[in-house]
Amino acid sequence: MHTIDTIYMDGRFVTPHGTELFDLHNPATGAVTGRVRLADEEDARAAIAAAKRALPAFSRTGKAERIAMLHRLADAVAARRDDLLDAVIGEYGAPASRADFMVDHPVNALRETAELLADYPFLRRMGTAEVSMEPLGVAGLITPWNSNAGFICGKLATAIAAGCTAVIKPSEMSARQTRIVTEALHAAGLAPGLFNIVTGRGDRVGATISSHPDVAKISFTGSTATGKAILRSAADTLKRVTLELGGKSPTIILDDADLSQAIPLAINAAFMNSGQACIAGTRLLVPRSRLAEVEALAKAAVEAVRAGDPRDSTTTVGPMVSRTQWERVQRYIRIGVEEGAVLLAGGEGRPDGQPEFSGGWFVRPTLFTAVRNDMTIAREEIFGPVLSILPYDDEEQAIAIANDSIYGLQAYVLSGDTARARRVAERIVAGRVLINSLTHDPKAPFGGFKQSGIGREYGSFGLDAFLEPKALLGEGV
Ligand code: NAD
Repeated sequence: MHTIDTIYMDGRFVTPHGTELFDLHNPATGAVTGRVRLADEEDARAAIAAAKRALPAFSRTGKAERIAMLHRLADAVAARRDDLLDAVIGEYGAPASRADFMVDHPVNALRETAELLADYPFLRRMGTAEVSMEPLGVAGLITPWNSNAGFICGKLATAIAAGCTAVIKPSEMSARQTRIVTEALHAAGLAPGLFNIVTGRGDRVGATISSHPDVAKISFTGSTATGKAILRSAADTLKRVTLELGGKSPTIILDDADLSQAIPLAINAAFMNSGQACIAGTRLLVPRSRLAEVEALAKAAVEAVRAGDPRDSTTTVGPMVSRTQWERVQRYIRIGVEEGAVLLAGGEGRPDGQPEFSGGWFVRPTLFTAVRNDMTIAREEIFGPVLSILPYDDEEQAIAIANDSIYGLQAYVLSGDTARARRVAERIVAGRVLINSLTHDPKAPFGGFKQSGIGREYGSFGLDAFLEPKALLGEGV
């Protein structure tokens, strides 16, 4: 049993004022594996006060000092790789095939931010003015469970690069991973109060951070509904807000695509992180002329997806993170059938042949066809391994369907002709469009159009979002 009964504030692990105990589960068995004592509003306010005290000294540090800190943090997180790997698999059921990325990404995010900082121009000449990019102040960093260490380290890295101190509110469901990351970050020996990590409920700790007058900036990753609540509570004090929210990303297969490459890529795009990914390509747009071919290949591919024990290296779809998430996926599959979509693979219930996991929150990798874009399963984010095939008549219609969504986070275009794919990609309204690829570039901006968010993370756009330009004009400038 993992017992987590402290939060991190002012450079120390302290007992929270909050007393609520929250159960942690192993999603592969459903068993309770630990308990976390949650922070409350008073803890959030104390953490904000600590970050505020640390701000004057930290905001005056120079680039070299911050770069050294980022490398120290990266080394410290890298040193806990094995522990983190075990927690990532045990706490949210990341399949082993994905878990490696989950534990390397936070370290890379810290190092990449150090690299970015080295070249970032804090002082700029604009007309007759000298413009300096100033840290915004105390930053509230609120993160989801589906890439806990990556979001904590990525957001903290950017705050540190900018000269902001931070109060971090990770998901209550990731307390074990948070504990390991916190111990690692603590071991790097940064100044007390520079970052504070307070695990608690969103509507208590998160809401306190997003409304507190001493917090200047919120960087949030999570659902669109929570993002809207945060934006509302941040409005009174006009906080700068970056929101990384949900998606319903289209994968467009053009009629000249080589299906032997396109189908595996499309399935990977849909089922990455067991389908619990904001960038999952969950709407597969297929030319009617090749529909039968795609249906046959995709059905075979989905049936071959190994769903089960996340510790098995051949598993690509692990359990859903929680019972609630399992029920949510079941409900969407049911709605898909009720609204007239045709099941090609999977469906409600647990995967066959896995009685030993009957207590775990396993779902069946599911493929629907004959899906229309006005159906619920094409419009709402499911956050599980459910892929919908939507047929289209021509390229114009494919682009129209792709863009007919409240979301605009990511899109995928698959074609045998890269110039043509590029022309289509240019017309998709999404923060990132990937052509024949699942690549990621940390120097490129990441974030969404429309209700997928506000602002961007990564690269210089991500750093800009923690800074405010200040112009000096007149004599002596
Ligand atoms: P969530 O919105 O339920 O929770 C995210 C965080 O917000 C948690 O720490 C939660 O405690 C906190 N929170 C909840 N209510 C709050 C409130 N009123 N005020 C302040 N904080 C509050 O999301 P989740 O279920 O943890 O994560 C899944 C969602 O995250 C999906 O919708 C997914 O698309 C999205 N996501 C987006 C990205 C991206 O970069 N765009 C990446 C990963 C996940």
